[in-house]
Amino acid sequence: MAERQGMQAAGSLCDQLQITEEELQTRLAFLSFGQQDRQNLVEIHDTISSHVDEIVGEFYDHLLHFEELRGILSDPNLVERLKGSQRQYLLSLGWLGDGVEYAEGRLRIGLTHERVGLKQKWYLGAYHKLFELILRQLAVRYSKDAQRLSSLLLTLNKIVTLDEIFVVDTYYHATMQRLEDSLCQLKDAHRQLEGLSRQDSLTSVNNRRALIEALALEFHRSRRYRHQFALLFLDVDRFKEINDRFGHTFGDQVLLHVVQLAKGMIRPPDIIGRYGGEEFVIGLVECDQAGALQIAERIRLKIAQHRFLWEQHATTVTVSIGIAMLSSDIDQVGTFIARADEAMYQAKRRGRNRVQLYSKESLPK
Ligand code: GH3
Ligand code: MG
Ligand code: MG
Repeated sequence: MAERQGMQAAGSLCDQLQITEEELQTRLAFLSFGQQDRQNLVEIHDTISSHVDEIVGEFYDHLLHFEELRGILSDPNLVERLKGSQRQYLLSLGWLGDGVEYAEGRLRIGLTHERVGLKQKWYLGAYHKLFELILRQLAVRYSKDAQRLSSLLLTLNKIVTLDEIFVVDTYYHATMQRLEDSLCQLKDAHRQLEGLSRQDSLTSVNNRRALIEALALEFHRSRRYRHQFALLFLDVDRFKEINDRFGHTFGDQVLLHVVQLAKGMIRPPDIIGRYGGEEFVIGLVECDQAGALQIAERIRLKIAQHRFLWEQHATTVTVSIGIAMLSSDIDQVGTFIARADEAMYQAKRRGRNRVQLYSKESLPK
């Protein structure tokens, strides 16, 4: 009983395939399996038990006529083991004492065959062969009682058909599981690709598309809840000269470190992304003007004081940062970014390496 419960644990094939005692009874009823069949089984078993080695031997001789099966059955030890299982299988054929346990055993055998790569066509075909081999033995034993023989054959046919349906169940289940696994792998790959498609490949921060999406989301949220929201537009000063002097690869390393330094100065909910070549935008969530000026100044200083080293090169760089504060007259995220950009250009005009707050008055006429 304990064993039986163990078999029906969550991982059992019957559970997975929803084969319950009731389901089994329905299957048997559909095959018109009745009392007469139960009685016939006793005689069928008697015949099988008396000739089991003969049947198994003939069965394997038959299998070995086929090249594909010879390939699978090339190991004599494996063949001996399989013959042992085949014996057990035949001796328990139709022995439905505990239906669910019987089904579980049949499904497991099926799964083992599926896993070693035996195609369903061979497995189903083999049932026909087994049927024929048992029939021959019954025909010899009941050669003088045609009526009895036909009744026994009907029962044998039902019980073999029941097992054949288990084979179809097993192979279908295994195929579905493989499909589900593939689907999970595809979903993972899709998630990864989506992440990559939103990431800047050099700096791993948001690329322009993801940046604008994240800023737009926060822009609307801040407007709705009347939260402060500050935007920093950061541009590396005279970056072309860095590339010209040290090469593009060194330039890349500088950009990567500029981003890392800036990222280290902001909070997790803040937004950072690459707007273009050497231009980065930072959204400071729930941050007022004084706070934004302070953070921008800290970022500027941190970068200005850093020595960028890579291979045999070393240099310092500066950045110009424009700041725009969210205000009621901005109704689009594009306008918000444009203001921070304008302030950044103002910082450039005023000599670079500085922070500039956007204001309409300070714009050149
Ligand atoms: P300014 O102070 O006015 O901003 O001068 P600048 O030289 O930084 O500005 P400009 O716009 O003339 O040059 C920007 C340079 O950034 C030119 C471009 O080759 C370089 N750049 C853009 N993207 C990358 C990149 O991914 N890697 C490297 N190494 N350089 C880049
Ligand atoms: Mg630029
Ligand atoms: Mg620049």
